[in-house]
Amino acid sequence: MSEICIIGAGFSGAVIARELAQAGFQCDVFEARSYIGGNCHTARDPNTGIMVHTHGPHIFHTDNARVWDYVREFDEFVPFTNRVKALAGGRVYSMPINLLTINQFFGKVLSPAEARKFLESLSDQSIREPRTFEEQALRFVGRELYEAFFRGYTAKQWGVDPARLPASILKRLPVRFDYNDNYYNSRFQGIPLNGYTYVIERMLDHKNISVHVGAKLLRPDTQGYKHTFYTGPLDQWFGYSEGRLTYRTLDFAAEVHEGDFQGNAVINYCDENVPWTRISEHKHFAPWEIHDRTIVFREYSKACEEDDVPYYPVRLQDDMRVLDRYAKLAHQDKRTTFAGRLGTYRYLDMHVTIEEALNLAATYIRNQP
Ligand code: UDP
Repeated sequence: MSEICIIGAGFSGAVIARELAQAGFQCDVFEARSYIGGNCHTARDPNTGIMVHTHGPHIFHTDNARVWDYVREFDEFVPFTNRVKALAGGRVYSMPINLLTINQFFGKVLSPAEARKFLESLSDQSIREPRTFEEQALRFVGRELYEAFFRGYTAKQWGVDPARLPASILKRLPVRFDYNDNYYNSRFQGIPLNGYTYVIERMLDHKNISVHVGAKLLRPDTQGYKHTFYTGPLDQWFGYSEGRLTYRTLDFAAEVHEGDFQGNAVINYCDENVPWTRISEHKHFAPWEIHDRTIVFREYSKACEEDDVPYYPVRLQDDMRVLDRYAKLAHQDKRTTFAGRLGTYRYLDMHVTIEEALNLAATYIRNQP
């Protein structure tokens, strides 16, 4: 029997397994699904040959040179800049909000300084410290842009009024007063040449790691291990004893077309009366490949029911109270370390997950006698 049990073969589980294996620990990795990669899983679509982001678009971006160097040990990351477009009121705009968006939306030709002043005049300066998503939007872009680009999309994505959501969700998006339309501010940005699953496969390819897919482990199954790293849903680990944490799940409706469907990797649909939130066209995530046909995913968000895959932790006030109770239980459970988006119930990007996994593994190794 190995010493270390790792539940989940997404980035968190794979990085922890890799680091511990390299330090000489025997690791068993258990993945409930029939494939590795977690929600970053990629696979070639058998019809078109296009590399598909099975659980929705993933663009790797980070400011952290250590994380950037680390992931590039496992595959080449081809530079990729995510330039999202947004449909609102029957028109196409540049997203995140930048000088082009502002000038297009208001039919103006403002300079950066003029645009900054103009948005200030539209925004609600009486909101000093925005706490909610809506306050954050009204404070920084004003009502018109909020209603065009954020209110409908966010209501569809999260299933609640943006006035109830935390400001942190909107803080993920920059507002710019120049023509930079890069979706991220990160220094490093790219897509793995061979897909994310390949990266994770390489991480797990080590003599001290054995991987078991289609193997759903529960807490009692881990008793024989010296330590467990758990990256599944936190509430599930404790048998939902404190209640359920709410998540959003996604449905993807796939379509195959000839040629180029939308001319871009991601187009957001901001109007509330359009039921999907965005359309991803997968071949545009790998512009170095040539394909005559194309596969697109129309993305629908909904409440996560018992048998659905959890994607986004909702983190409303009720959730945070339940989370507090699970956090106490997790703290008492000294034989288990909780990691990743699901294991800690936080809205984490890949690079943060990897950084935290590296740190958790290092701490574990350091604390061994
Ligand atoms: N958002 C929005 N309109 C957009 C893009 C984003 O209202 O056109 C809001 C929405 O609430 C979303 C959040 O900003 O959940 C964060 O967006 P991001 O693109 O980071 O979401 P992800 O790619 O993680 O789903």
